[in-house]
Amino acid sequence: MQTAHSLDVLRTNVSKLRSGGARIGLVPTMGALHEGHLTLVRRALEECDAVVASIFVNPTQFGPNEDLDAYPRQLAQDAAMLESEGCALLWAPEASEMYPDGFVTNIAVTGVSEGLCGADRPGHFDGVATVVNKLFNQVLPDMAFFGEKDFQQLAVIRSMARDLNLSLPHVHSIIGVPTVREADGLAMSSRNRYLSKANRQAAAILPRAMKSAIAAIEAGSDVASCLTQLEGALIEAGFDSVDYAVLADATSLKALERLGGKPARLLVAARIGGTRLIDNMAVSS
Ligand code: AMP
Repeated sequence: MQTAHSLDVLRTNVSKLRSGGARIGLVPTMGALHEGHLTLVRRALEECDAVVASIFVNPTQFGPNEDLDAYPRQLAQDAAMLESEGCALLWAPEASEMYPDGFVTNIAVTGVSEGLCGADRPGHFDGVATVVNKLFNQVLPDMAFFGEKDFQQLAVIRSMARDLNLSLPHVHSIIGVPTVREADGLAMSSRNRYLSKANRQAAAILPRAMKSAIAAIEAGSDVASCLTQLEGALIEAGFDSVDYAVLADATSLKALERLGGKPARLLVAARIGGTRLIDNMAVSS
């Protein structure tokens, strides 16, 4: 596996990979890799001839009081994991390469970026849309792979690709990969390592409480009461607060008061011991 820290080296290596018409898959990450990320790489390898993974802790998607400085960085370990999965190229730029002096452009996706995490993290999805657009332009991948774990992020990126008529990757080549979970059901996340042992144990209530709420909603119970009960279960188990627990249309991400025959999603963000955890699951109508 080659590693590129500069755009010149990236482009030279991407051209080499592409020679002979190989299809390139891109897996963007912020590093601190776990099985969730590696599952994206494996899926990309199934669908493409060569996989480029990026590791960039993107400062513009962190708010002033968020964990940019504390975010785990372990490039050598991550590189070894990517190499053993068969990744062809690692793109690990410096912030100065991504945002040189004089950088003035921002991509703001409205609609799906509003509400949910967008309400709690102002500017977050502008940072995501802008950096992902840059990564797409830098690598020009045939396909790109994102986790459903960040369901709203996936919706924002698809909207951006559709609205800006991106061709590499085309909106239909942006692939959502189901969330990979720990044995107790907690969605894998680089941020899980912030949790104390007790909080890590307590956090497993999140997917369990979500499943119970979904079963009740699918059985016809009142949605608002199910969501209130879900929030109560999280607080009782040791969560400090719930940023949101919402039943939403799976495409528009608009909140639903009841199931309406279209694909729906339960999305939750909650805080425990200073760590903000998110999760989402499909709800059948
Ligand atoms: P991150 O490094 O957290 O920004 O995530 C990079 C990519 O990995 C994003 O597309 C995430 O949605 C995806 N991802 C993170 N955690 C998981 C998981 N548990 N299962 C599947 N994909 C994930």
